[in-house]
Amino acid sequence: AKENGKHTYIVYSTDLEQSGMKKIVLEGELRKAIEREEFVMHYQPQVDASGKPIGLEALIRWNHPLHGFISPAEFIPLAEETGLIIPLGNWVIEHVCGQLQQWQPQNIHVSLNLSTKQLQDPELPRTVQKALQTCGIPPALLELEITESAIMRNVTESMAILEQLKQLGVQLSIDDFGVSYSSLNYLKQFPIDKIKIDRAFIREIHTDRKDYEIVSTIIHLAHNLNLQVLAEGVEVQEQYHTLQRMDCNEYQGYYFSKPLPPEELDAFLSARTPI
Ligand code: C2E
Ligand code: CA
Ligand code: CA
Ligand code: CA
Repeated sequence: AKENGKHTYIVYSTDLEQSGMKKIVLEGELRKAIEREEFVMHYQPQVDASGKPIGLEALIRWNHPLHGFISPAEFIPLAEETGLIIPLGNWVIEHVCGQLQQWQPQNIHVSLNLSTKQLQDPELPRTVQKALQTCGIPPALLELEITESAIMRNVTESMAILEQLKQLGVQLSIDDFGVSYSSLNYLKQFPIDKIKIDRAFIREIHTDRKDYEIVSTIIHLAHNLNLQVLAEGVEVQEQYHTLQRMDCNEYQGYYFSKPLPPEELDAFLSARTPI
């Protein structure tokens, strides 16, 4: 295994034993990091068609004492594989609810990402309910993002858990919409409120006729099913304008803002009318 500077933990070695060792070391580090709470949440703004702030997506970062910020793409898969995602995911739920409590006067909604394993954890609805109660947050301000593949991993089990979550009054959205399972059947069956169109479809929406047609059709379909639509990865004005003309409801991406630590969100939040 070798290190590549920025992404220190990527294992390039074909030596199975060595990469196995590396994984064990990283698993141990991750375990310690959870105990020591070496994680922080950054929040990426979401706006409506008029550019008004409406929400924030919570995205985890590992603030490693030696390596600095480590991207979730590097440790979430291992956390999933080892089951550590359950304690880590519970920390995220509690931490985000605590932050929501501070932002409650701005009446902003915050979404967080749930992994496949969490969606199979029968304790999940209780964990979410307890966090909402402890912080005294209106459940509708919390949005939970799940992927199509997480739902499809075990349809019956996840259906039961999603129904329980929905009964708490939280919002549910499908993340990375369009990239994995193209079965649209579950849109009808599951208690979903919103789809987030993956940025793979947004990237060339202003230049590629096919992407344009796909996204336009998805938005149409979603609206006919009473679902809200958010476009992910909006990076340039032309993409924003094209999506506005399609009546897309919400927008997120570097064009508006990258994910930021909570203390840097004052300007974004002050554009909201306090309740
Ligand atoms: P995601 O849920 O699809 O989150 C969006 C990712 O796209 C974020 O990467 C965000 O920084 C990035 N992004 C936002 N706008 C743009 C844009 O305009 N262009 C481009 N190229 N990228 C953009 P990030 O923060 O590195 O997170 C990566 C993934 O890690 C997330 O993808 C999500 O699947 C996972 N993740 C993040 N936080 C959590 C968490 O708390 N729990 C779980 N289970 N997974 C998480
Ligand atoms: Ca997400
Ligand atoms: Ca996404
Ligand atoms: Ca993604």
